Amino acid sequence: MITILMYHHITPVEINHGVTPENFKDQIIALQNKGYNFISVSELEEKNKCRLSVKKNYIAITFDDGWLDNWAFAFPILKELNIPATLFLVTGWPSIGECRSQEELEHLNLLDHTDLMKIANSAIPDKAVMRWKEIEIMMDSGLVNIQSHSHSHGESWKNLLETKTITDDIRHSKKMLEKHLNIRVKHFCWPRGRFTPELVSKVSSLGFEQQYSTMKGAHYTDKLNQLILKRINVTNITGDELVKGLKKYHYSIFAYMITCLHKLKIMYNLNKTTKIGSILQWLRL
Ligand SMILES: [Zn+2]
Repeated sequence: MITILMYHHITPVEINHGVTPENFKDQIIALQNKGYNFISVSELEEKNKCRLSVKKNYIAITFDDGWLDNWAFAFPILKELNIPATLFLVTGWPSIGECRSQEELEHLNLLDHTDLMKIANSAIPDKAVMRWKEIEIMMDSGLVNIQSHSHSHGESWKNLLETKTITDDIRHSKKMLEKHLNIRVKHFCWPRGRFTPELVSKVSSLGFEQQYSTMKGAHYTDKLNQLILKRINVTNITGDELVKGLKKYHYSIFAYMITCLHKLKIMYNLNKTTKIGSILQWLRL
């Protein structure tokens, strides 16, 4: 079984889309104690070489967007515990410059997700997101794999109407990563978890071998040969709570039902103002 976890912020303040460093570390240790094997998304490519055992449980940690708190709070924990992870980066946000000093990191203005998103989408996103130098150091550690999460993460992603704009944005993101980090980019993570069948095939034709969604679920190791992969959003819970919560995705019928309901939510844009949407919200889907 392969379970891909989705994180956004690792931060000492309790915010939406955030996990505290204490809980993040506790989650990793609890998964390790349960015998999970940590892999990066590029190791998922090994599926073709049949190197992943069908009997083992694998975990891939992914971070979306490229927030500065990932550098300040998540990376030290990954290094300490020697855990691989993947960062899906919005390439329009990082700036050029030296790494932030320890003192700067200790005095970060810890904001919630909405405020950080506003800064990231402003003319000067630097206060909310990582710099290229910091991303490079994460990558050079050998632990963090960098992949694409679009260039702008902007308005065009909300309604998905402009296929060409979106495709150009993704193509640009791939080029930026290849230019700044000199890497091959084969994985793409959909901003806001939204996509259309047309966009999926366009992205494949750009050379992306695997695409990541926010649809909930785990994957059987021998059935990973699908284009859109599911992930599980991790909230600010303890390690034991996470281990317990993951179990339900390992039962196929239940996992299948969760995936179907989540697909419905995305396809029909069911937010909590609709009746079905509010039920799905209550079910945490
Ligand atoms: Zn995102």
